[in-house]
Amino acid sequence: MLQQTRVETVVPYFLAFMERFPDLARLARAPVDDVLACWSGLGYYSRARNLHRAAGICLEDHGGRLPSSQEELEALPGIGRTTAAAILALAHDQPRAILDGNVKRVLARHAGIEGWPGKSSVAGKLWKEAEARVPAKNAASYTQAIMDLGAGVCTRSRPACEKCPVAGDCVAWLEGRTEQLPGPRPKKTLPRRCREFWLVCDHHSRILLARRPPAGIWGGLWCLPEADELAGLDPEKGRLETTIQHTFTHFRLEMKIRRALISPADAVTDNSELEWMSVDQAMGRGLPQPVRRLLESGLAGPDRTRQPTE
Ligand code: SF4
Repeated sequence: MLQQTRVETVVPYFLAFMERFPDLARLARAPVDDVLACWSGLGYYSRARNLHRAAGICLEDHGGRLPSSQEELEALPGIGRTTAAAILALAHDQPRAILDGNVKRVLARHAGIEGWPGKSSVAGKLWKEAEARVPAKNAASYTQAIMDLGAGVCTRSRPACEKCPVAGDCVAWLEGRTEQLPGPRPKKTLPRRCREFWLVCDHHSRILLARRPPAGIWGGLWCLPEADELAGLDPEKGRLETTIQHTFTHFRLEMKIRRALISPADAVTDNSELEWMSVDQAMGRGLPQPVRRLLESGLAGPDRTRQPTE
């Protein structure tokens, strides 16, 4: 959950998730829809799908436990070099180097490593530095400490160098370059994509949602259908209700939301992944964040769904 996401955001999701799936077996046996529903709003949904698949593999192939070797951990979906190493260091006190975003920042500043950490030559230097520093003993404490240092002291902006325990030999601090290190990501303009989505309501205030294919954006989540998923609807009958901007890591999506009021019988489609549901039912499903916000705004509420179609 903490990949690309701040602790404050994660805490309520983590608590709810652990209450719903308190152990690996219950996570593995749950429908993926339930897992996505618990993750709904947190973004980067491939993490939830990978976690669910990994739990299944652990149950089938590893006796219901997480494996304890780097190779076996990295073979699980969603677990890369750093996550596997962090599990081994924190859970088994093995001397393994990790390189998450916080650790990259600490090392780049403390060792004075120039350049954007996303560049492979820079990442190579950081990995070398990370490996050289892991102690043979107390790896768990060291790993937790360097992650905490990055999260709480050596922060992205205005690091608290005056109270930093490693300030004495920190290159960035001694040379007054904390603002320059680590090097910034090269600027590039995100491409823009424009797509039309349908807020289709019936006379019982229900809405029509479509489950997205497992791969691709919002994979496996329930979303407003796009025009090509509604074979029986004439897009001309829907009026433009609102436009929502949503930013992914690699593009910006402009969602044009069209509204149509129809009877279920009119929504003729051979798509078995379409389902009519109340707004309350929809809120219990895994929804992309902009769709959840749209439904929370009341735009699909009973008073709105009775408006005539233009
Ligand atoms: S002295 Fe400042 S820049 Fe250096 S590691 Fe500590 S907090 Fe980071």
